[in-house]
Amino acid sequence: MTQQDIPYYAAAGNEVSLFEQAWKNHLPLLIKGPTGVGKTRFVAHMAARLGLPLHTVACHDDLTAADLIGRHLIGDNGTTYWSDGPLTRAVRQGGICYLDEIVEARKDTTVVIHPLADHRRTLPIDRTGEVLHAPDNFMLVVSYNPGYQNFMKSMKPSTRQRFVALSFDFPAAEREEAILRSETGCDEMTARRLVSIGRSLRNLKDVDLEEVPSTRLLVYAAVLIKNGMDPVVACRSAMIESLSDDREITETLMEVVLATF
Ligand code: ADP
Repeated sequence: MTQQDIPYYAAAGNEVSLFEQAWKNHLPLLIKGPTGVGKTRFVAHMAARLGLPLHTVACHDDLTAADLIGRHLIGDNGTTYWSDGPLTRAVRQGGICYLDEIVEARKDTTVVIHPLADHRRTLPIDRTGEVLHAPDNFMLVVSYNPGYQNFMKSMKPSTRQRFVALSFDFPAAEREEAILRSETGCDEMTARRLVSIGRSLRNLKDVDLEEVPSTRLLVYAAVLIKNGMDPVVACRSAMIESLSDDREITETLMEVVLATF
């Protein structure tokens, strides 16, 4: 694999070597942090770097154990056949299995990963009686956003304690500017201004926002500006309108934009 095939990822600290160590030592990894700060990109980067296939599952509150493991289906000729779910496929084929936003999945669903996440490294498939042993190159990675967490949706300690954990946060200014420039090709001044707006919005004390702007939203604004859109319009559409539906709040946020562009 050439350098160009590896998705760009600007590291914050020692997360690359920690991931490599976890992979080498057969330890599963938990990545926590707010949305849009590079968790998914980091996993894609590491999979490419290690030359491993990546199997991603976006977890949601309807996700059942059968959705992950597989189920019997009825074929055209009326006979039943077994169809692997994405987790089973990942264990058979090897590589990295990434369960994105794992706390969204139902609690009984996450329990199916327990034998896979500890020293057993097995996946029992009750419906077929099979017990799969994860190959040497298999690694389980899960992520979640503690910001969304409430009592019902926190991770069970018995699940959490099976993982080595990494915490992601919003990037430092210089790193975030580098990300915007590399992701969009925008100029230095645009990157600097957008990052400054992002940081001001993240630090606003009197505005009640469910989520503050992520690096992803700054990237969107940078793309629009790079393609010729007026910066104020770009910031409103790419950042401000996605943060709140309350007009009073969006206008307060726009003041930060207008003070910068
Ligand atoms: P998450 O999985 O944390 O919700 P993503 O990995 O999807 O977030 O990141 C959203 C976008 O932000 C990416 O597509 C990328 O453009 C950009 N990004 C965020 N952090 C980084 C980083 N450290 N290196 C490169 N790109 C990043």
